[in-house]
Amino acid sequence: MRFKIVLYICLFFLLALTSTIKAQVIEGPDSIEFVEDPEEDEEESSEFDSVIVSGSEKYWDFIRPRNFLFDTAFAPAHNLYTVWDTITINPYHRDLKVMEDTIRLVLADFDDCSFHPPAIGDVTSNFGFRNWGRRQKFHFGTDIRMEVGDPVYAAFEGVVRIAKRSADYGYMVVIRHNNGLETLYAHFSQLLTYPGQPVKGGSIIGLAGSTGRSTGPHLHFEVRFQGEKIDPATLIHFPSGSLLNDTFQVDKGCFKHLYDVQAAKLKAKKTKLPKYVKAHKNDTLIKISNRYGVSVKRLSKLNGLKPKTKIKAGRKIRLR
Ligand SMILES: [Zn+2]
Repeated sequence: MRFKIVLYICLFFLLALTSTIKAQVIEGPDSIEFVEDPEEDEEESSEFDSVIVSGSEKYWDFIRPRNFLFDTAFAPAHNLYTVWDTITINPYHRDLKVMEDTIRLVLADFDDCSFHPPAIGDVTSNFGFRNWGRRQKFHFGTDIRMEVGDPVYAAFEGVVRIAKRSADYGYMVVIRHNNGLETLYAHFSQLLTYPGQPVKGGSIIGLAGSTGRSTGPHLHFEVRFQGEKIDPATLIHFPSGSLLNDTFQVDKGCFKHLYDVQAAKLKAKKTKLPKYVKAHKNDTLIKISNRYGVSVKRLSKLNGLKPKTKIKAGRKIRLR
């Protein structure tokens, strides 16, 4: 009998010990894993890599938790979102250009920390179409010129959902805000945050750089609602670094550019490219991609070169 009691006590301590070890392993920012993503916008959520927390307004549950502890009771705007995913940029898959509702978001209250411009610098590229070789490509964010190492700030109060490295965005951050929006920041030289970290408007989340698909140091900044991009200039007046309005109305009009994007995609399919072109002086696949409108990933595959490798002038590069 006494032996049995001693055995049970030993078992109890052993169990307690293993559970504390487990808790220690998954805690803290040091255990973040950076994952390379295949595409810029259409990121697939891998069944085995994603950390997805899903549920309804009333009930949240962890599905396959990995790497960090996050109490979903603190997930911002959980009346508008039912998924918390630390890998996939858009896990929501909503077609908002046909949304019926009109949602009024209160962007900022009278608190001083409620809004801060994401970066201080000149806007070099706006939301909208820009030339990509012979084609047009839609640019889904606002680019701000930066020096490597310049601070990048959280725009509003919220919780960091993603902090990782992606092939196109480089080191990047996505924040879910209390006001119902999400913001995305790309091409950092260094990340100074981790998934699950609460931030205020003005918290420094990383240092600017040129990682990923980028030809010079800048911040690529996106505003999203339920995964779909909105023109940041409809909320923020970038030259003065202030909000245009304390509230923002989300309706299908915010997403009407998606019809133009669809039409441009169809048109691009019909435009024929030459099979081979000659590289210019100091060319890289990124520059060639910008010139002809072929993705870096595809050029890399066709030519067996890395995106930033310097290519000899005159070398034949296959486009299709
Ligand atoms: Zn950009």
